[in-house]
Amino acid sequence: MSLEELQALERRYLMQTYRRAPVEFVRGEGALLWDADGKEYLDFLAGISVCSVGHCNPAVVEAVREQAGRLMHVSNLFYTEPMVRLAERLSRSSLGGKVFLANSGTEATECAIKVARKNAHRRGVESPEIVSFERDFHGRSYGALAATPALARNEALGPMLAGFRSVPFDDAGALRDAVYEETAAVLIEPIQGEAGVYPVSEETLLAARRACDETGALLIFDEIQTGMGRTGSLWAYQQTAVRPDVMTSAKALGGGLPVGACVMSEELGDVLEPGDHGSTFAGGAVASAAALAVLDLVDDEELLRRVRELGATLREGLLELDGVREVRGRGLMLGVGLEPGIDAAELAAELLRNGLIVNVPEPGTLRLLPPLTVDPDQVERAVGLIGESLLTYSRV
Ligand code: PLP
Repeated sequence: MSLEELQALERRYLMQTYRRAPVEFVRGEGALLWDADGKEYLDFLAGISVCSVGHCNPAVVEAVREQAGRLMHVSNLFYTEPMVRLAERLSRSSLGGKVFLANSGTEATECAIKVARKNAHRRGVESPEIVSFERDFHGRSYGALAATPALARNEALGPMLAGFRSVPFDDAGALRDAVYEETAAVLIEPIQGEAGVYPVSEETLLAARRACDETGALLIFDEIQTGMGRTGSLWAYQQTAVRPDVMTSAKALGGGLPVGACVMSEELGDVLEPGDHGSTFAGGAVASAAALAVLDLVDDEELLRRVRELGATLREGLLELDGVREVRGRGLMLGVGLEPGIDAAELAAELLRNGLIVNVPEPGTLRLLPPLTVDPDQVERAVGLIGESLLTYSRV
């Protein structure tokens, strides 16, 4: 089927919720993708930070193949070993408490919101409130949407869920003022991803921790984009002085299969009980087997050291390019701020034509999220392609 035929069918049969680039991908390996005409692309987006161990990583493919051939699904009314082992692995590698497995980031957020509200009710709060930063992104289901201030203003989708409040990004004072006895949780991304890669300062993270400790609110870190080694540690919070009470994960966790998780600290014990939350597919055997294979690869000091080193190389290379104003982020999660007047969307379209996949989270910013297994030559090639496109572009 030609691209034009696919596009015609898409217009006829798919709800028009996305603006897709005009490329049909048919194969992937490591940091490379191929389109239907056989053209090769260097993928510095990795399915928006999902394919962190590379496309079709052999260990993940084998784990999926093996599990799919034996047992795919039995529901949460029964036990399977991959599900329980995944919960143990996530807990032991982070906050040490109980885990709820989900199928996506937004579902992990829903669980965190329920945990926060129920925990607040347990300490006598009547109208629990959840505080987030402006431009945070926590997902698109109604709970997560309510904690995603920019999207929650879309009145056409209203009414929104009550009990949410936002404060200016990285404003420690405003955050402190917004947290009081009725606050159930502060729910933030330690590095905003969809907004354009903006790290929260250590000062603000510490202020959030303190405000939560003083009021009994939970500190929830959304590590859906920052987690699973993306920033050079398994979880982004591990490079800060702050430990959250609850953490969410998804995206790279399943290596390409839909897996999410909400992890609590051990001190929280049990908050949710039977009937409070659930999902037919969550913790499915195939998805859990995939996630265990991804964790085997990513929860590895050698790989994490490489992420930090390659991240530094990428950052330095980008900062030398004409047209690059600043580079934000950590590890292999980078936002490239362009000089005023450079249209990031046009630049990304030009890069795509030249065989490099990046994305544009906001005007003036390119976001780079390559697979963590990218090799140094590919990092150099990406910097070269961005430099060339910037030159061509500024000549136009
Ligand atoms: N939280 C963050 C930080 C995200 O980046 C995303 C997705 O981009 C989500 C939540 C929602 O995840 P999902 O699209 O899997 O529902």
